[in-house]
Amino acid sequence: MDLSRPRIAIIGGGPGGYEAALVAAQLGAGVTLVDRDGLGGACVLTDCVPSKTLIETASTMTVLAASADLGIRVGGARPGRRHDDGSGDVEPGPAQAGIRVTGPAAGNPGPAVADATRLYGRIKNLARAQSVDVAARVAAEGVEVISGTGRLSGPRTVRAGGREIAADAVLIAVGAHPRVLPGAVPDGERILNWRQLYDLSEIPPELVVVGSGVTGAEFASAYQALGSQVTLVSSRERVLPHEDIDAAVVIEDVFRRRGMTVLGRSRAASVRRQGDRVVVTLTDGRVVRGSHCLLTVGMEPSVDGIGCEDAGVKLDERGFVTVDRVSRTSAPGVYAAGDCTGVLMLASVAAMQGRIAMWHALGEAVHPIRMSHVAATIFTDPEIATVGVTHTAVESGEVAARTVKLPLAGNPRAKMGAIRDGFIKLYARPETSVVLGGVVVAPHASELILPVSMAVEQRMTVDQLAQTFTVYPSLSGSLTEAARKLMSFDS
Ligand SMILES: Cc1cc2nc3c(=O)[nH]c(=O)nc-3n(C[C@H](O)[C@H](O)[C@H](O)COP(=O)(O)OP(=O)(O)OC[C@H]3O[C@@H](n4cnc5c(N)ncnc54)[C@H](O)[C@@H]3O)c2cc1C
Repeated sequence: MDLSRPRIAIIGGGPGGYEAALVAAQLGAGVTLVDRDGLGGACVLTDCVPSKTLIETASTMTVLAASADLGIRVGGARPGRRHDDGSGDVEPGPAQAGIRVTGPAAGNPGPAVADATRLYGRIKNLARAQSVDVAARVAAEGVEVISGTGRLSGPRTVRAGGREIAADAVLIAVGAHPRVLPGAVPDGERILNWRQLYDLSEIPPELVVVGSGVTGAEFASAYQALGSQVTLVSSRERVLPHEDIDAAVVIEDVFRRRGMTVLGRSRAASVRRQGDRVVVTLTDGRVVRGSHCLLTVGMEPSVDGIGCEDAGVKLDERGFVTVDRVSRTSAPGVYAAGDCTGVLMLASVAAMQGRIAMWHALGEAVHPIRMSHVAATIFTDPEIATVGVTHTAVESGEVAARTVKLPLAGNPRAKMGAIRDGFIKLYARPETSVVLGGVVVAPHASELILPVSMAVEQRMTVDQLAQTFTVYPSLSGSLTEAARKLMSFDS
């Protein structure tokens, strides 16, 4: 061991842990990373990557279902095209994404059906391959990886793989796991958390989704597109209760129009099996039945048994590790990043917290994390992407802002693509016209939010955004048009 190099020990190999390891190695530290389930963490293996892969197939199904509007008659399956370079390689066609294209046969709900075995197989393969890629990246930077469980055995020591690893700084990045309701324990067959979906052998014919936050809304949207009859049980008045209200209204309307049953103000008291069926009993006594039930009722930090108390690391009242804006815990030399801190459960935030921790620990100049600049997307169909100030902050008067909301239906590119649902919303500071944030509800909103994100980060004015060239025709044209409308308030 080179004792002249600073030593970093990291517990947890998700985005919080592995991104930190890459930064620390780049800065010349000797890094040991302990992970028990596979590099990439739950993000890559069970949560973000698998769900987004499923949603990719679901989105293709939605496009296929709407193909008649675009003047397409689907007449039969076309396999992936074979390259004519003699390689025998096949370009991906719908089949590779787990979609079987069918003719307009009687009794068939749409032009395509999801092939569950292929779809789930693809998702698991892709997740494993992504984990292998992360492992290769980390290895290439000279990070030592220990496969196993790690725990803090003192303020700056980690026990793992039968060793005691002394470090100048330790990072806890152990993530979180699905919360279990006492009356609704997953059995992995019919009563499921999202990590168990990919072992199913079928697309659930009748899926009851309990919980209408981001995860519940994303899976409800995806499975409805994949052919399930979905019932969404929401304890609040509307779906996505913590998100932009205008966006939530659009999504709930789309859900209902596509045939989903949305039960507002309905709290699940218990979920139990009845043979091959599930019975969800609501607190008001109503009963909802289905073939499967997916529980999306939140996350709990995976900090049990990792030795926080031995190291003097404080937890908050919900059990999450308390951190400041440069990822320091209450114990000197111990940092924490990602879902175990409960700050904002996003891979991008976990990664940034991890990097900031390492820059700070290794003496680099560092900006504290700015949560108001985090761009996020809810991958429903259409997607909801947000950055900066929120509707609630503006409505309550906490933040003074001028607002413009532009429906997408008037956008020429949207008309060409038969896109009817969605809007662009921008917020700007009244006196200075600086862009404070925005909301995009559109197909691929996750890609369209970047200009707004850059405007917020760089403190651009609506004038600067409005004077930026966009392509004609494009959905992003509505972004600059919204900025122009905010300019016109100036006179
Ligand atoms: C369904 C779903 C979809 C999501 N989609 C998105 C999305 O689209 N975009 C986005 O930004 N975020 C998304 N997220 C959130 C994202 O997955 C998390 O924010 C991210 O995984 C957090 O990273 P992390 O490093 O904190 O933890 P994790 O990714 O959970 O990794 C933690 C790692 O630590 C390991 N570990 C735990 N305890 C120990 C121990 N004692 N010793 C050794 N190793 C240990 C675990 O095995 C795991 O490998 C989604 C979440 C869910 C549930």
